[in-house]
Amino acid sequence: MARKDREMRNVLLLNGNGDVLNFIPWTRAMSLVLKGRVTVYEEFEDEVHSQTRSFKVPAVICLLKMIPFKHSGKVSLSKQNLLIRDQYACQYCGKELKQHTTTVDHILPVSRGGMRIWKNVAAACKPCNGKKGNRTPDEAHMHLSTQPWIPTRKVVLKKHAESLGVPEWLPYFA
Ligand SMILES: [Zn+2]
Repeated sequence: MARKDREMRNVLLLNGNGDVLNFIPWTRAMSLVLKGRVTVYEEFEDEVHSQTRSFKVPAVICLLKMIPFKHSGKVSLSKQNLLIRDQYACQYCGKELKQHTTTVDHILPVSRGGMRIWKNVAAACKPCNGKKGNRTPDEAHMHLSTQPWIPTRKVVLKKHAESLGVPEWLPYFA
């Protein structure tokens, strides 16, 4: 299987009008396909084999019906979403990060009243977070490569698609 596991697991789900809704696990996508509730727009090249047959995993599917969807725009502050916002890089040294090597740095430390909000967090590697300790970046003479910002849902999904570099997804974010 040429593609990485994490790519294979996600399928881009579009609403009936073509709006991006979310990424869903490919198993759930297959179940929507089998129930006839979606149109398959794109497929991955790789095939998945069950005991009796093989099939292509959809890359992009579109609901036949439009579902009401509240565009609250709010994105929950999880480590995964933070990694996506900060493009899988330590915001202090630029080192590439993975889920398990990432720490959530509170720019103004929690012990000094810093809150866990988008504007006060940055993805950081463990050595940088340890070095910064209980200080602000200025005090530690460490510089953030980007100023922290509040991502919208669509932006997070788009960055996720871009960071994985799955060509089948990208046109749907244009
Ligand atoms: Zn670092």
